[in-house]
Amino acid sequence: MRAVKGMNDILPGESRRWQRVESAFRSTMERLGYGEVRTPYVEPTGLFVRAIGETTDVVEKEMYSFVFHDEPITLRPEGTAGAARAYVEHRVHNDEPVTRWFYMGAMFRGERPAKGRYRQFYQVGAECFGDAGPGCDAEMIDALVMFLTDIGVASPDVFINSIGSGQTRALYTEALRKALEPKKEALSPDSQRRLLTNPLRILDSKHPADRAALEGIPTVLDFLSDDDRAHWDNLRRHLDALGTPYQVDPHLVRGLDYYGRTLFEIKGAYDILGAGSTLVGGGRYDGMIRSLGGPDVPAIGFAAGLERLLLASTVEAPQSAVDVFIAPLGDTATAEALVLGRQLRRAGVRCEVDTRNASLKALLRRANALRSTWAIILGDREVSEQVVEIKDLGRHTQTKVARAEVVGYIQSRLAEAPAPGDGAGGLDAGVAPGAAAEKP
Ligand code: AMP
Repeated sequence: MRAVKGMNDILPGESRRWQRVESAFRSTMERLGYGEVRTPYVEPTGLFVRAIGETTDVVEKEMYSFVFHDEPITLRPEGTAGAARAYVEHRVHNDEPVTRWFYMGAMFRGERPAKGRYRQFYQVGAECFGDAGPGCDAEMIDALVMFLTDIGVASPDVFINSIGSGQTRALYTEALRKALEPKKEALSPDSQRRLLTNPLRILDSKHPADRAALEGIPTVLDFLSDDDRAHWDNLRRHLDALGTPYQVDPHLVRGLDYYGRTLFEIKGAYDILGAGSTLVGGGRYDGMIRSLGGPDVPAIGFAAGLERLLLASTVEAPQSAVDVFIAPLGDTATAEALVLGRQLRRAGVRCEVDTRNASLKALLRRANALRSTWAIILGDREVSEQVVEIKDLGRHTQTKVARAEVVGYIQSRLAEAPAPGDGAGGLDAGVAPGAAAEKP
């Protein structure tokens, strides 16, 4: 049996790196006052059709949808719709004027698998409900840059745009349609169709014919209403004040329909991912809560693909699964090893006890394979003399330590020289030396 195409197993050797990035993300968001929301992996299909938009690639082609006991349901292709649904369903707006949520988890899209593009992939993301101000947008972008720097993504490139609110978008959509209509024959078949259904999406097209047709087309920034322009100008002012570098990309529109005003994307500094180098996508979606039956609450959010973050990050996983490997020789020693193992773990030490009753040679081979810092050897003689032999596997030294002092001995040695990237501090993402330093 094999895993389903486009869906991957993440084994512990790799998942330790994932955990580093996840905990750096959690730490970033918690320091910004965000709380974790966990929503179901399946939602009513209608939620995504409404929230994401009928004419988007995700809804048109990529959703894992099925009918279960007469109920049309879909494996979530993204996290915002579910979060917004939960926000409305629990009437969170009644309890607080501003709500800050983050999430992490699997998403499902039936895309053509490639490097950095999978059918089950993981996103970390956040949503802020209830704050319409451009300061909220700027803070979110700045926090993302801080997070990316923390995990060693070298100089992340921020691209921003505004597609205005409803009125602006309607005017611009018409202008775009008019400008592209004479070039219709030159457009790709998808874009010809979108000229009727959703012209804004043409801006997003990577097709060379569409790119050529878009040359010299008016940009949405020329159409911003006074309010939209004030928001846009203030967003840039706040980013300037924060010293967050960004570029304006007036062709930036995002695949999902619900966005308005601020849009942003962050790309990795070097193009290790080929065409799909976007690490983070986000923006404002002020109309969504209302469209889901809630009140008029503004919102902004982003999502980042965890696999892509890992491709672009220099974060290092701990080299070893354990600090201490206990090698008992014989049944009496095994009983003693189990007790010692429990004592060490209670003291916070990562420890494996090998209960296979294997030879000393096999036990030490295992200890080395685990890259354990120490092996504690316990034979019948050690048990009766109330001592253990502690082998330092890196330095190739061996010390006899009184049984009663073993836990203290290991603890103080661990405190002296924590393994690289093994720091227990939540902020330590284990970034490799030489990784991008944070800007002042
Ligand atoms: P989106 O929800 O389409 O705005 O995507 C947000 C981020 O999720 C992207 O920038 C990617 O990092 C990631 N992402 C989207 N689709 C996939 C996929 N099929 N496989 C892996 N990562 C993805």
